[in-house]
Amino acid sequence: MKPLLEIRDVSLSYHTSAGETPALSHLTFDLMPGEFLAVVGPSGCGKSTLLNLICGLLSAEEGTILMNDTVPSPGDPRIGYMLQKDHLLEWRTIYQNVTLGLEIRRELTHAKLEYIEEMLCTYGLDKFRNARPSQLSGGMRQRAALIRTLALKPELLLLDEPFSALDYQTRLNVSDDIGRILKKEGKPAILVTHDISEAISMADRVIILTKRPATVARIVTIDLGLTDRTPLSSRNAPQFKSYFNLIWKELNQYV
Ligand code: ADP
Ligand code: MG
Repeated sequence: MKPLLEIRDVSLSYHTSAGETPALSHLTFDLMPGEFLAVVGPSGCGKSTLLNLICGLLSAEEGTILMNDTVPSPGDPRIGYMLQKDHLLEWRTIYQNVTLGLEIRRELTHAKLEYIEEMLCTYGLDKFRNARPSQLSGGMRQRAALIRTLALKPELLLLDEPFSALDYQTRLNVSDDIGRILKKEGKPAILVTHDISEAISMADRVIILTKRPATVARIVTIDLGLTDRTPLSSRNAPQFKSYFNLIWKELNQYV
Protein backbone atom coordinates (compact mmCIF):
# COMPACT_ATOMS: atom_id res chain seq x y z
CA MET A 1 0.00 0.00 0.00
CA LYS A 2 1.22 3.50 -0.83
CA PRO A 3 1.58 5.99 2.04
CA LEU A 4 -0.82 8.95 2.14
CA LEU A 5 1.93 11.14 3.51
CA GLU A 6 5.67 10.77 2.98
CA ILE A 7 8.10 12.75 5.11
CA ARG A 8 11.65 12.30 3.88
CA ASP A 9 14.77 13.62 5.55
CA VAL A 10 13.13 16.90 6.57
CA SER A 11 15.13 19.61 8.34
CA LEU A 12 14.18 23.13 9.38
CA SER A 13 15.80 25.93 11.39
CA TYR A 14 14.25 29.19 12.56
CA HIS A 15 16.30 32.25 11.75
CA THR A 16 15.80 35.25 14.03
CA SER A 17 17.86 38.27 15.03
CA ALA A 18 19.03 36.23 18.04
CA GLY A 19 20.49 33.59 15.70
CA GLU A 20 19.61 30.22 14.30
CA THR A 21 17.40 27.69 16.12
CA PRO A 22 17.55 24.25 14.51
CA ALA A 23 14.08 22.75 15.12
CA LEU A 24 13.91 19.57 13.02
CA SER A 25 16.76 17.46 11.73
CA HIS A 26 16.53 14.74 9.08
CA LEU A 27 13.07 13.58 10.05
CA THR A 28 11.63 10.63 8.13
CA PHE A 29 8.35 8.74 8.49
CA ASP A 30 5.21 7.74 6.55
CA LEU A 31 1.52 7.86 7.27
CA MET A 32 -0.55 5.09 5.70
CA PRO A 33 -4.16 5.61 4.52
CA GLY A 34 -6.56 5.37 7.47
CA GLU A 35 -3.76 5.38 10.01
CA PHE A 36 -3.74 7.25 13.33
CA LEU A 37 -0.27 8.41 14.34
CA ALA A 38 0.68 10.01 17.62
CA VAL A 39 3.82 12.11 17.96
CA VAL A 40 5.41 12.48 21.38
CA GLY A 41 8.56 14.35 22.32
CA PRO A 42 10.02 16.67 24.93
CA SER A 43 8.43 20.11 25.16
CA GLY A 44 9.97 22.56 22.68
CA CYS A 45 11.44 19.78 20.52
CA GLY A 46 9.66 20.84 17.33
CA LYS A 47 6.30 19.00 17.34
CA SER A 48 4.17 22.01 16.36
CA THR A 49 6.81 22.95 13.80
CA LEU A 50 6.36 19.51 12.25
CA LEU A 51 2.57 19.96 11.92
CA ASN A 52 3.05 23.45 10.44
CA LEU A 53 5.35 21.91 7.84
CA ILE A 54 2.90 19.14 6.99
CA CYS A 55 0.05 21.61 6.40
CA GLY A 56 2.24 23.84 4.26
CA LEU A 57 2.39 26.84 6.63
CA LEU A 58 6.18 26.39 6.73
CA SER A 59 8.41 24.92 4.06
CA ALA A 60 11.22 22.49 4.70
CA GLU A 61 14.78 23.74 4.21
CA GLU A 62 15.88 20.25 3.35
CA GLY A 63 13.98 17.11 2.47
CA THR A 64 10.48 16.59 1.10
CA ILE A 65 6.91 16.31 2.34
CA LEU A 66 4.49 14.74 -0.09
CA MET A 67 0.81 14.03 0.32
CA ASN A 68 -0.38 11.78 -2.50
CA ASP A 69 2.67 12.90 -4.48
CA THR A 70 2.07 16.65 -4.15
CA VAL A 71 3.61 19.16 -1.74
CA PRO A 72 0.97 20.58 0.67
CA SER A 73 0.32 24.29 0.11
CA PRO A 74 -0.72 26.85 2.77
CA GLY A 75 -4.43 26.38 3.45
CA ASP A 76 -4.38 23.05 1.62
CA PRO A 77 -8.01 21.86 1.47
CA ARG A 78 -6.85 18.27 1.92
CA ILE A 79 -5.69 18.99 5.47
CA GLY A 80 -7.69 19.89 8.59
CA TYR A 81 -5.94 21.37 11.62
CA MET A 82 -7.16 21.36 15.22
CA LEU A 83 -5.39 23.22 17.97
CA GLN A 84 -5.41 23.31 21.76
CA LYS A 85 -7.74 26.32 21.68
CA ASP A 86 -11.00 25.57 19.85
CA HIS A 87 -11.16 29.07 18.29
CA LEU A 88 -14.96 29.05 18.28
CA LEU A 89 -16.37 32.54 17.74
CA GLU A 90 -18.50 33.69 20.67
CA TRP A 91 -20.68 36.00 18.59
CA ARG A 92 -21.81 33.13 16.39
CA THR A 93 -24.08 30.25 17.41
CA ILE A 94 -22.77 26.68 17.39
CA TYR A 95 -24.47 26.14 14.03
CA GLN A 96 -22.92 29.32 12.62
CA ASN A 97 -19.56 28.16 13.98
CA VAL A 98 -19.62 24.67 12.49
CA THR A 99 -20.64 26.05 9.08
CA LEU A 100 -18.03 28.83 9.16
CA GLY A 101 -15.33 26.96 7.24
CA LEU A 102 -17.75 26.11 4.43
CA GLU A 103 -19.04 29.68 4.39
CA ILE A 104 -15.50 31.07 3.99
CA ARG A 105 -14.80 28.63 1.17
CA ARG A 106 -18.22 29.34 -0.40
CA GLU A 107 -19.04 25.65 -0.24
CA LEU A 108 -22.39 25.75 1.57
CA THR A 109 -23.86 23.10 -0.68
CA HIS A 110 -26.88 20.98 0.17
CA ALA A 111 -24.77 17.81 0.48
CA LYS A 112 -22.24 19.43 2.79
CA LEU A 113 -24.91 20.97 5.03
CA GLU A 114 -26.56 17.58 5.23
CA TYR A 115 -23.27 16.07 6.37
CA ILE A 116 -23.04 18.72 9.11
CA GLU A 117 -26.62 18.01 10.13
CA GLU A 118 -25.81 14.30 10.38
CA MET A 119 -22.72 14.94 12.52
CA LEU A 120 -24.56 17.39 14.82
CA CYS A 121 -27.15 14.67 15.50
CA THR A 122 -24.74 11.72 15.76
CA TYR A 123 -22.40 13.59 18.08
CA GLY A 124 -25.07 15.11 20.32
CA LEU A 125 -24.88 18.78 19.40
CA ASP A 126 -28.13 19.24 17.49
CA LYS A 127 -29.93 20.52 20.59
CA PHE A 128 -27.22 23.12 21.04
CA ARG A 129 -27.23 24.51 17.51
CA ASN A 130 -28.53 27.90 18.69
CA ALA A 131 -26.34 28.07 21.81
CA ARG A 132 -23.25 30.26 22.07
CA PRO A 133 -19.87 28.57 22.62
CA SER A 134 -19.68 29.86 26.22
CA GLN A 135 -22.83 27.88 27.06
CA LEU A 136 -21.10 24.60 26.20
CA SER A 137 -18.69 22.46 28.24
CA GLY A 138 -15.06 22.20 27.16
CA GLY A 139 -15.67 18.76 25.70
CA MET A 140 -18.70 19.86 23.68
CA ARG A 141 -16.75 22.84 22.37
CA GLN A 142 -13.99 20.52 21.13
CA ARG A 143 -16.62 18.36 19.46
CA ALA A 144 -18.04 21.45 17.73
CA ALA A 145 -14.54 22.42 16.60
CA LEU A 146 -14.03 18.91 15.23
CA ILE A 147 -17.34 19.00 13.31
CA ARG A 148 -16.34 22.38 11.83
CA THR A 149 -13.06 20.82 10.68
CA LEU A 150 -14.62 17.57 9.38
CA ALA A 151 -17.28 19.53 7.48
CA LEU A 152 -14.54 20.51 5.04
CA LYS A 153 -13.95 16.80 4.36
CA PRO A 154 -10.19 16.90 4.84
CA GLU A 155 -8.23 13.80 3.86
CA LEU A 156 -5.91 14.19 6.84
CA LEU A 157 -6.37 15.71 10.28
CA LEU A 158 -3.62 17.32 12.29
CA LEU A 159 -4.27 17.64 16.02
CA ASP A 160 -1.89 19.77 18.10
CA GLU A 161 -2.41 18.91 21.78
CA PRO A 162 -6.17 19.36 21.33
CA PHE A 163 -7.06 18.12 24.81
CA SER A 164 -4.39 19.75 26.94
CA ALA A 165 -6.60 22.67 28.03
CA LEU A 166 -9.18 20.27 29.52
CA ASP A 167 -9.20 18.88 33.06
CA TYR A 168 -8.16 15.24 33.43
CA GLN A 169 -11.62 13.67 33.64
CA THR A 170 -12.96 15.68 30.71
CA ARG A 171 -9.83 14.94 28.74
CA LEU A 172 -10.33 11.18 29.03
CA ASN A 173 -13.92 11.48 27.86
CA VAL A 174 -13.17 13.92 25.07
CA SER A 175 -10.23 11.96 23.71
CA ASP A 176 -12.41 8.84 23.74
CA ASP A 177 -15.12 10.79 21.97
CA ILE A 178 -12.85 12.28 19.34
CA GLY A 179 -11.07 8.96 18.82
CA ARG A 180 -14.38 7.23 18.11
CA ILE A 181 -15.54 10.02 15.79
CA LEU A 182 -12.32 9.89 13.76
CA LYS A 183 -12.53 6.11 13.51
CA LYS A 184 -16.18 6.28 12.43
CA GLU A 185 -15.39 8.92 9.81
CA GLY A 186 -12.33 6.87 8.77
CA LYS A 187 -9.99 9.86 8.96
CA PRO A 188 -6.24 9.45 9.10
CA ALA A 189 -4.77 11.72 11.75
CA ILE A 190 -1.56 12.89 13.36
CA LEU A 191 -1.96 13.72 17.03
CA VAL A 192 0.76 15.68 18.80
CA THR A 193 0.64 15.17 22.53
CA HIS A 194 2.93 15.22 25.56
CA ASP A 195 0.69 12.63 27.23
CA ILE A 196 2.09 9.11 26.70
CA SER A 197 -1.15 7.38 27.79
CA GLU A 198 -3.18 9.48 25.38
CA ALA A 199 -0.79 8.57 22.55
CA ILE A 200 -1.00 4.81 23.26
CA SER A 201 -4.76 4.86 23.77
CA MET A 202 -5.47 6.54 20.43
CA ALA A 203 -2.71 5.66 17.98
CA ASP A 204 -1.84 2.81 15.64
CA ARG A 205 1.80 3.90 15.86
CA VAL A 206 3.60 6.28 18.19
CA ILE A 207 6.49 8.33 16.82
CA ILE A 208 8.96 9.31 19.52
CA LEU A 209 11.01 12.41 18.80
CA THR A 210 14.35 13.35 20.37
CA LYS A 211 14.95 16.71 21.99
CA ARG A 212 15.47 19.72 19.69
CA PRO A 213 16.44 19.58 16.87
CA ALA A 214 13.94 16.73 16.69
CA THR A 215 14.57 13.60 14.75
CA VAL A 216 12.75 10.25 14.97
CA ALA A 217 14.13 8.33 17.95
CA ARG A 218 11.84 5.36 17.57
CA ILE A 219 8.51 4.30 16.10
CA VAL A 220 6.39 2.00 18.24
CA THR A 221 3.53 0.02 16.70
CA ILE A 222 0.66 -0.34 19.18
CA ASP A 223 -1.01 -3.72 19.12
CA LEU A 224 -3.31 -4.21 22.08
CA GLY A 225 -5.04 -7.28 20.63
CA LEU A 226 -8.47 -5.65 20.79
CA THR A 227 -11.01 -6.09 18.00
CA ASP A 228 -13.26 -3.12 18.74
CA ARG A 229 -10.64 -0.80 20.06
CA THR A 230 -11.58 2.56 21.59
CA PRO A 231 -9.31 4.94 23.54
CA LEU A 232 -10.93 3.91 26.85
CA SER A 233 -10.81 0.15 26.18
CA SER A 234 -7.18 0.56 25.10
CA ARG A 235 -6.31 1.97 28.50
CA ASN A 236 -7.58 -1.21 30.13
CA ALA A 237 -5.71 -3.60 27.84
CA PRO A 238 -3.06 -5.73 29.64
CA GLN A 239 -0.29 -4.63 27.23
CA PHE A 240 -0.98 -0.94 27.81
CA LYS A 241 1.45 -0.69 30.71
CA SER A 242 4.38 -2.24 28.88
CA TYR A 243 3.94 0.20 25.98
CA PHE A 244 3.81 3.01 28.53
CA ASN A 245 7.07 1.91 30.14
CA LEU A 246 8.78 1.44 26.80
CA ILE A 247 7.87 4.92 25.55
CA TRP A 248 8.49 6.55 28.93
CA LYS A 249 12.01 5.09 29.08
CA GLU A 250 12.80 6.19 25.54
CA LEU A 251 11.49 9.72 26.17
CA ASN A 252 13.28 10.02 29.49
CA GLN A 253 16.63 9.94 27.70
CA TYR A 254 15.79 13.29 26.16
CA VAL A 255 14.45 15.18 29.16
P1 ADP B 1 6.89 21.93 20.53
O1 ADP B 1 5.59 22.08 19.81
O2 ADP B 1 7.50 20.57 20.44
O3 ADP B 1 6.80 22.36 21.96
P2 ADP B 1 7.77 24.00 18.66
O4 ADP B 1 7.70 23.33 17.35
O5 ADP B 1 6.69 24.96 18.99
O6 ADP B 1 7.96 22.91 19.82
O7 ADP B 1 9.16 24.79 18.74
C1 ADP B 1 10.42 24.17 18.54
C2 ADP B 1 11.52 25.16 18.82
O8 ADP B 1 11.52 26.19 17.85
C3 ADP B 1 11.39 25.86 20.17
O9 ADP B 1 12.66 25.98 20.74
C4 ADP B 1 10.80 27.21 19.83
O10 ADP B 1 11.24 28.19 20.75
C5 ADP B 1 11.37 27.47 18.45
N1 ADP B 1 10.42 28.26 17.63
C6 ADP B 1 9.16 27.93 17.36
N2 ADP B 1 8.57 28.83 16.54
C7 ADP B 1 9.52 29.78 16.29
C8 ADP B 1 9.55 30.97 15.51
N3 ADP B 1 8.48 31.37 14.82
N4 ADP B 1 10.72 31.68 15.49
C9 ADP B 1 11.79 31.26 16.18
N5 ADP B 1 11.84 30.14 16.92
C10 ADP B 1 10.72 29.39 16.99
MG1 MG C 1 3.69 22.73 20.44
